[in-house]
Amino acid sequence: MPNNANQSNTYQPETLAVHAGTVRSQFGEHSEALFLTSSFVFENAAQAAARFIGEQPGNIYSRFTNPTVTMFEERLAAMEGAEQCIATASGMSAILACVMGVLKAGDHVVASRSLFGATVNLFNNIIKKFGVETTYVSATDVAEWQAAVRPNTRLFFLETPSNPLTEISDIAAIAAVAKQCGALLAVDNCFCTPILQRPLGLGADIVIHSATKYIDGQGRVLGGAVLGSKKNMESVYGFLRTAGPTMSPFNAWVFLKGMETLKIRMDAHCANALELARWLEAQPNVARVFYPGLPSHPQHKLAMKQQKAGGGIVSFEVKGGKAAAWRVIDNTKLLSITANLGDTKTTITHPASTTHARITPEARAAAGITDGLIRIAVGLEAVVDIQNDLARGLA
Ligand SMILES: *Cc1c(COP(=O)(O)O)cnc(C)c1O
Repeated sequence: MPNNANQSNTYQPETLAVHAGTVRSQFGEHSEALFLTSSFVFENAAQAAARFIGEQPGNIYSRFTNPTVTMFEERLAAMEGAEQCIATASGMSAILACVMGVLKAGDHVVASRSLFGATVNLFNNIIKKFGVETTYVSATDVAEWQAAVRPNTRLFFLETPSNPLTEISDIAAIAAVAKQCGALLAVDNCFCTPILQRPLGLGADIVIHSATKYIDGQGRVLGGAVLGSKKNMESVYGFLRTAGPTMSPFNAWVFLKGMETLKIRMDAHCANALELARWLEAQPNVARVFYPGLPSHPQHKLAMKQQKAGGGIVSFEVKGGKAAAWRVIDNTKLLSITANLGDTKTTITHPASTTHARITPEARAAAGITDGLIRIAVGLEAVVDIQNDLARGLA
């Protein structure tokens, strides 16, 4: 922010979302500039040498740093209350950079059973090849986290609310267990964004983002971020600079613009989701609604303490299993049938046959993902239009 205003902790998150990180070039542009350049020119050989050995700060090459990407990093760091943010090419490369930076062969991870599918795949099929084992535990039962700890446990990993059942993990309680055994707690904050939840303030060590979702908010580009203390981020940045899954400057520029409307979009997503969840609860053909903002949610109290609002994701179970769920989905005209989320456009998906199709029916049942379950990522349309679109198939 100009005039060092981003040094201040006194601004509200929505103010930081608009101003933090902005650096103006010599032209004095008001909107953040897009620096589409792979490399940077030095004034002389001595300056090049000083930059390369790290004696003089400054840009060298966009795999290392880029001014537009740096503005994105500074802005998100200010919003999450983090010392440092490292931008990545996608949410998955943020998780990869985190584990490659923090873990080594022989280390052990304790992770929530309710993680994004590709994250589970990364732990089970990629990180495992390098000698890192993962134990999965309940998202909600803190005692299971404690019981899973081994002498070599280095990382706890969770996302809250979970997808698609919106289970809430108690970040402060799980952070306390992690601290006690010398492990770091990483929280994937994609569903809440810093507008609704700030995990570092609750004791987490690392925050992960898929900026692809709400931070962009309009379904245009992929990106991610890892945030934490300078100390914890050093090896994460080292991995990124060498291996190269860095954020494109163009995508960083899109995210900077997205963040400026994040507060009003999140408020609207949450208000729409709450209204839709209440309406769904009153429908005779709906067996159950999963939404943290409803008093019927098993962890409603914890959710309302930990988050500013219930978020934009609502799941519900229709009576009549898969046939009934598919009937609801196939009778929509306005809603997009896609697994993406965090868009202005409402999306609808059948987890059992899409995002969770590759796990066994037994494992699905154990996870509570029934054949009648539908997940909705509520967008910014009028709620009455979303209701009417669902009512046809629910009748
Ligand atoms: C989408 C998503 C990711 C992965 O992000 P990409 O940007 O698609 O790589 C990780 N975690 C959660 C919770 C997500 O929803």
